[in-house]
Amino acid sequence: MAEKTLARGDAILARDGVIAGVAPRADLEKRAGAECETLDCGGRLVTPGLVDCHTHLIYGGSRADEYEMRLAGAAYMEIFEAGGGIHATVRDTRAASEDELVASARGRVEVLLSHGTTTAEVKSGYGLTTQEELKMLRAAARLAEELPLAVVPTFLGAHAIPPDYADRRGDFVALLTGEMIPAVAGAGLAEYADVFCDRGAFDLGETRAVLAAARDAGLKLRLHADEFEALGGTELAVELGAASVDHLAVVTDAGVKALASSDTVAVLLPGTTVFLGSSRFAPARPLIDAGALVAVASDHNPGSCHVASLRAILTPAATYLKMKPAEMLHAVTVNAAYSLGRADRIGSLEPGKAADVAVFDVGDVNELFYDWGPTRAWATVVGGVVVHRD
Ligand SMILES: [Zn+2]
Repeated sequence: MAEKTLARGDAILARDGVIAGVAPRADLEKRAGAECETLDCGGRLVTPGLVDCHTHLIYGGSRADEYEMRLAGAAYMEIFEAGGGIHATVRDTRAASEDELVASARGRVEVLLSHGTTTAEVKSGYGLTTQEELKMLRAAARLAEELPLAVVPTFLGAHAIPPDYADRRGDFVALLTGEMIPAVAGAGLAEYADVFCDRGAFDLGETRAVLAAARDAGLKLRLHADEFEALGGTELAVELGAASVDHLAVVTDAGVKALASSDTVAVLLPGTTVFLGSSRFAPARPLIDAGALVAVASDHNPGSCHVASLRAILTPAATYLKMKPAEMLHAVTVNAAYSLGRADRIGSLEPGKAADVAVFDVGDVNELFYDWGPTRAWATVVGGVVVHRD
């Protein structure tokens, strides 16, 4: 079992950005040498840096007005079908320059770092043309260069059918498979490709075509599926060897079974369920009990989950998914890292992994969940360097 937290009295020795040892402090002090910088955590909880494996951190504009509409009774998909929702963010994102996208996302990344997140997956998907999708992915690369957050970029050109393709959906799928995917893969700007497979988004046949083209272009696969309606996306993702299937609020028993017999990670996004005012949460317990790998992510996005950070949703996530604190911590560290193909490098406190660490001003893991709200980390360390300190 990988280390989830540091034992009391233990210390971590980092060298060249990597964990060189985890042992009682006195033992490591001898190995460290006099010139070693120290951070005394004063008995606080030390965990691996949090890994947010599903975010839409880059976008233009705000959808605060839609939140009010939803509170007044409008459904998320109604707003989308009326030209709002993702379509509104696409208009605002296209209107923003690459510099503006980087500047607005920078503030969000600073929140993530101050809340203990050290790696985040970041999706495109608000451009929906080749040039605009490339612009978003370049912005993601710049964020990773300019800030200490590790970014895993995902191409989500199949996020929505643009209104001008509504009567010729096949043409948009052809644009994705024939132009966008080759351009993105050729530019080396994405590691994963993703599709929103659901009612009102992409159907199963369209999803298969996009995922197959992405896989052929050398991209690894993720999938949004079973958020509103189960179309068979989960089973398809497992069949294609996808790294993750995300949402799963309405996953079927067959989907649970398929995930349990695979290495595809079930990424649950309970912040979205809360923010949309739904009571139908992904079946975390049946998934875990069946043997599926379960991760939890923030799904930060401008419409359905405008949450400050993964840390901020840990408590409602544990409460509604009925996951124990230790299981939840696993879900937002090592399992999330596994879903991003980085379990050998991040997600636990073990020699040889990156010295990415979060320190919280609580005494133990139970208190981390008991003490809820948008609580900042006491310190965040990336590659052995303190990047945030309260
Ligand atoms: Zn999403």
